[in-house]
Amino acid sequence: MVTTKRTFCSLCESFCGLEVDVENNTIVDIRPDNDHVVSQGYACVKGIKFDSVQHSPDRITEPQKRVGNEWQSISWDQALTEIADKMAGLKRDHGRNRSATLWELPVVRTYWHPYSGVNFTKHWAQIACTVQAPATL
Ligand code: SF4
Repeated sequence: MVTTKRTFCSLCESFCGLEVDVENNTIVDIRPDNDHVVSQGYACVKGIKFDSVQHSPDRITEPQKRVGNEWQSISWDQALTEIADKMAGLKRDHGRNRSATLWELPVVRTYWHPYSGVNFTKHWAQIACTVQAPATL
């Protein structure tokens, strides 16, 4: 039986509303949500074709660790512990201004903000204002 879930795309800051048909835990269709209060029936091709990524046989579903010239699958616990230890070491030894990220997913900010603190928020706000300013003139 197909069930329709109302959700949103998190690939970029627009958070377009989506209707997703699911059957047997598999996405069978994605449409823009005409009733979404902000996107009002709009979603770009990345959002409405996301099932091709979700169900791709090439999708990496486990953390990968580079060991020499090889990649090894590791557990999520190991990956998160090693990353947290390295980030804590960088912050301890060099301060919060000695690291940077390039994020394509808005959710990354949720995790990055507590680590980098006020300077990150200030910097991000400056970029957002700079980019948006010409469009609002
Ligand atoms: S559907 Fe496209 S424009 Fe909308 S949030 Fe996703 S990636 Fe962004």
